[in-house]
Amino acid sequence: MTHKYDPFQLKTPYAMAIHDWTNITCSGQRVLAGFSTKNGGFSLDPYQSLNTGLHVGDDASSVQMNRQVIADGTAVPLSDWVFADQTHEDHIMKVTKEHKGRGSLHYHEALPGTDGLYTSEPNMMLALCFADCVPLYFLAPNDGLIGTAHAGWKGTVKQIGAKMIDIWTSQEGVAVDHIQVGIGPSIGSCCYVVDDVVMDQVKKLPFSTEEVYSEVSRGQYKIDLKTLNKHALLHAGIKEENIHVSSMCTSCNDQLFFSHRRDQGKTGRMMSFVGFKEA
Ligand SMILES: [Zn+2]
Repeated sequence: MTHKYDPFQLKTPYAMAIHDWTNITCSGQRVLAGFSTKNGGFSLDPYQSLNTGLHVGDDASSVQMNRQVIADGTAVPLSDWVFADQTHEDHIMKVTKEHKGRGSLHYHEALPGTDGLYTSEPNMMLALCFADCVPLYFLAPNDGLIGTAHAGWKGTVKQIGAKMIDIWTSQEGVAVDHIQVGIGPSIGSCCYVVDDVVMDQVKKLPFSTEEVYSEVSRGQYKIDLKTLNKHALLHAGIKEENIHVSSMCTSCNDQLFFSHRRDQGKTGRMMSFVGFKEA
């Protein structure tokens, strides 16, 4: 699949960025919002080569070196990065400078029971790991907030994206019109079939979902998780022109991405990363 324009653009062999956000500044700070690829790292098969997941059976020192490659590209030291442990729930945490370094070298130090992170503080990076699940990105340029969340099918039906919007509008005083969202590379409906266990949850969502799935055989459905997340965000009040959706499928693009389904569970992880960097 080739597309003329994707909001996620490859900037180096090892990472892409949300192109429209690269020129945004917040109180003199640059916006960094990226997604790593599988290329340019140190890990060996089946994690070859830029695996960023510490919890998938890869050699920890290789993962640490891989994360260092990506950190070097942002000029934010890895000791100022923060990771969550990601449990397919919808807990979101506001990150401050006391959390710097949590989970950056050791999985057991990651922020526990958490699938969404946001901050207002510069010179730190928030990161989450992915291999098919949907990476969500949030930015409120006028209010100086940036965040990321992990939405597999469970996080998607729990509407973790809408939950981030609710926290920003109700607790942080952000106007919903001012929030921009990115929906990153993840498994497409081309490669993702689910059963009634998933569909029962999808059908309970409080907005129309009919255009995001189709039954391919009895009890088996192709489903588009990226579009489902987009619908949840529209339902939460985000303007359509403020939602930037990647067209890339992690399973189809085997030169760029790890894919949990395609690689039958034994594979590496890409990561989403967001932060403000003093220019
Ligand atoms: Zn695909």
